[in-house]
Amino acid sequence: MPLIFDGHLDLAMNALGYERDQRLPVDDLRAFEVNAKDDGRETPTVTIDAMQKAGVACCVATVIARTKRVKPERNPIRRNLDYPTQDIAHGAAMGQLAYYESLQRQGVIDLINTAGELQEHWSRWQGGALDAPVGVIVTMEGADPIVEPEEVHHWYARGVRTLMLSHTADSPYAFGTPPWDSVGPPEQGPLTDKGRRLLDEMSELNMPLDLTHLCDQSFHEAVERFTGPIYASHSNCRALATKHRQLTDEQLKIIIERDGLIGTVLCNSMLRDGTPETLSHELVGLDALAEHIDHICQLAGDARHVAIGSDLDGGFGREWSPREIDTIADLHVLEDVLAKRGYSSDDVALVMSGNWLRYWLEHLPD
Ligand SMILES: [Zn+2]
Repeated sequence: MPLIFDGHLDLAMNALGYERDQRLPVDDLRAFEVNAKDDGRETPTVTIDAMQKAGVACCVATVIARTKRVKPERNPIRRNLDYPTQDIAHGAAMGQLAYYESLQRQGVIDLINTAGELQEHWSRWQGGALDAPVGVIVTMEGADPIVEPEEVHHWYARGVRTLMLSHTADSPYAFGTPPWDSVGPPEQGPLTDKGRRLLDEMSELNMPLDLTHLCDQSFHEAVERFTGPIYASHSNCRALATKHRQLTDEQLKIIIERDGLIGTVLCNSMLRDGTPETLSHELVGLDALAEHIDHICQLAGDARHVAIGSDLDGGFGREWSPREIDTIADLHVLEDVLAKRGYSSDDVALVMSGNWLRYWLEHLPD
């Protein structure tokens, strides 16, 4: 079975926010949730159990806890995600980190802190160890839980290896993208003074900067100031899905030129323009994802700068995922979709796992 490396999953958010036991088969989770859908949640597609059985050997997984946004009308408060202050968000994100540490002690996941650990982990999977734990590199989605920029060293020592400055809308560090369905011209904003200081601390650590969720103004300021490794964990192409949550060709080229990577997302509203009616599970297929992958390959002139950052269960479920996706195991269908488009088996393997593997072997500490 070919291995998969997923560049973006919210495993701890689902566990702590929706009480989703990541050790269970997806079907068991669905059975528990039959009567729990009155809080807006959708049908889950991801558990670590499903990843393990399907050869999703490694992922980058989040801790995410936001401070309430200044303009909640632009970005509605999200249950179990928004907290009144940065220190309360800090506590919530530490709780998510503690969840990963507990899974590690149980042998369910392998927390990966160094390039050596990643190499060892990947070799174990390549050797066909079917009972091997799933590898997890921890990221922070939105830096709100870092109360002061210097505190990033503390999070780094605890195993957080990369971060995004902001989630949707304004954070204490930068101005994020508008929500996917916002109308009117997107609000823009610069990095804050704390954001600039945080980038300087990250440069010191050689900690990769994830540019996903930055608005255009903050994006361009960040790539000019920050000299370390850059990438986008879960972003698609604005040329194909025009809302400002996606990256322009100019932004994609900046990432490609600095030998970064773009992880493409499996949320239908980020694959095509449309309405909830035209973007349903049945109406959008993985061919739409392949178009985004192909667009990035054409800009780059190779297949070395695009990967999967599925974001499955990242605030949406099966209902907003492409029709071939029932669970995360169905990511393998993409291998055939890309092959049919003329991608060689080597290039398919780069997209499914090889590019993230190379990126993190290069940018994790020794
Ligand atoms: Zn996100």
